[in-house]
Parts: sequence; C-alpha cells; structure tokens
Amino acid sequence: MAALELLVVFCDACRKPIGDGDGFLYVDLAQVRAYRAGEAFPAAPVLSIESLMGRPVRPTWHAHHTACAPDNGGDAYDVPVAQVRTWPRLATTTARLMSKNWFSFTDWDAVLEGAASAGGSRVSRTALREAS
Ligand SMILES: [Zn+2]
Repeated sequence: MAALELLVVFCDACRKPIGDGDGFLYVDLAQVRAYRAGEAFPAAPVLSIESLMGRPVRPTWHAHHTACAPDNGGDAYDVPVAQVRTWPRLATTTARLMSKNWFSFTDWDAVLEGAASAGGSRVSRTALREAS
C-alpha cells in the first residue's frame, strides 16, 4: 500500500511550515458577510474612487501558526492544518465546507489549485512527483 502524500501548509506570517496541531487555515466571517452584502448591490451607477475603495474584496483564506495568528478578536472559521494534511482529508474538508452557505464566496478554489500545482502559498504539495 502506497504511503499517503503529505501536503505542507505555510504560515502567512513567518512563511514556515505548520505542523499538525500548531496552526490552522481560517477565513474572516465578517469579511464574508461584507462581501455578500456588496454582492447584493453590485452595480453602482457611477464608479467613483470611493466606491472602488469601498468595494468588498473576495474573502481570502489565511494560514497561521497559532502563535503567529493576529489576535483581532474577529469572527473566523478555522480549519486545523491536520484536516488538510492529505488529499483524502483535503477532499473531506472541502466537502464539509461546501455545506456552508458562505463557502462559495471564499477563495478556497485558489487554495486547492495551489495545493495541486505544488505552487501554493498556503497549502501545497512538497514537490511534483512524476510517475516514472
Ligand atoms: Zn508562523
């Protein structure tokens, strides 16, 4: 039986890998709410600097060591790194997240693409291993 490929999760703050139990991926739910509210009123009649500056940005998943995480008292949804450590766990976690009504507003698709390409800044393969 082949060993499961382990994925690596990098901390946004110190850029070092995060071990199981040492950190998590998270998305700011307040940012998700703001983004969804903006989506409900998408078309400003005139695009001003103010409206551009105030336009909600797509909610982004972050990865942090517990020790590196900003303590902003925000309302965040956390995913422990152990839950994305292998492809089966990443698939299971993704399926669970898909049941959340806010999930499609986040950039989890970019997390998955980064993981698969070995170029992910948050979750990544450690190296591409070509079958040979
Ligand atoms: Zn860190």
